[in-house]
Amino acid sequence: ARVLVLEKYIIPGGSSGYYRRDGFTFDVGSSVMFGFSDKGNLNLITQALEAVGCKMEVIPDPSTVHFHLPGALSVLVHREYNDFIEELVSKFPHEKEGILKFYGTCWKIFNSLNSLELKSLEEPLYLFGQFFKKPLECLTLAYYLPQNAGDIARKFIKDQQLLSFIDAECFIVSTVNALKTPMINASMVLCDRHFGGINYPVGGVGGIAVSLANGLVEKGSAIRYKANVTNVILENGKAVGVRLSNGKELFARTVISNATRWDTFGNSANILSWSS
Ligand SMILES: Cc1cc2nc3c(=O)[nH]c(=O)nc-3n(C[C@H](O)[C@H](O)[C@H](O)COP(=O)(O)OP(=O)(O)OC[C@H]3O[C@@H](n4cnc5c(N)ncnc54)[C@H](O)[C@@H]3O)c2cc1C
Repeated sequence: ARVLVLEKYIIPGGSSGYYRRDGFTFDVGSSVMFGFSDKGNLNLITQALEAVGCKMEVIPDPSTVHFHLPGALSVLVHREYNDFIEELVSKFPHEKEGILKFYGTCWKIFNSLNSLELKSLEEPLYLFGQFFKKPLECLTLAYYLPQNAGDIARKFIKDQQLLSFIDAECFIVSTVNALKTPMINASMVLCDRHFGGINYPVGGVGGIAVSLANGLVEKGSAIRYKANVTNVILENGKAVGVRLSNGKELFARTVISNATRWDTFGNSANILSWSS
């Protein structure tokens, strides 16, 4: 399909963009990159780059994070899962079983997710097909869908300092504590950092969006900058086009909004308004 990307800023990337000063390139947002591996189904950056015929050189990060927490607790999250578990167990030897059970549950969920071809979770036909191909994995995910990481950690772990550590593990990926972090989200991140690993793209994170934009153009599609969408145009309740802030209207068979759901569907604060 030929795609037209409308971007209101002057470069691609959004929260994964970049800026340059004095010959240096700085990331503006994302810098801990998941999704760059060459295995499994969760390597979404690799897959997106492949879709437009691009590949980026990456530098594997030997650790995701080094926690320095109150009580002089220092835990290095090694890329190798066994090294990480060994380090954590050495700090909490009395909780060895709980640690193995908590992170083991994360792996059960991660392996289920990783076995599915990840597409839209809002497409009933796709979900139906996946259920028939991988019923056990889908049931595992359905079971854990409403659960949070904090409740599951508390099933296996009693030590308050270790529970606080799990809060910190969740906080850096979800910005809320474990009791507010969905178990599926926690599992995806706590395992993929060991499975696919954290990999930094050579040249900076901004290079991902630049590669995607270049690849898109090479495939015959287009990207237009300083194109601020203010309206979604509807025909019989279906989105058929958009209006830009300069009044120009563009029409397409399919309209996809990558602005946040609040900007797209929100009420009082929405940026995009909908008009027939
Ligand atoms: C400071 C910071 C640090 C982060 N660190 C990490 C990290 O280490 N690892 C990680 O995995 N994730 C990290 N994230 C999250 C990650 O960057 C985002 O989840 C991801 O970039 C979101 O991508 P997106 O394309 O969905 O949205 P965005 O990046 O928000 O892109 C949306 C794009 O749409 C454009 N746009 C919006 N409205 C309109 C409109 N009306 N018309 C035209 N264009 C419009 C915007 O200009 C923007 O370019 C971080 C985020 C921030 C802010």
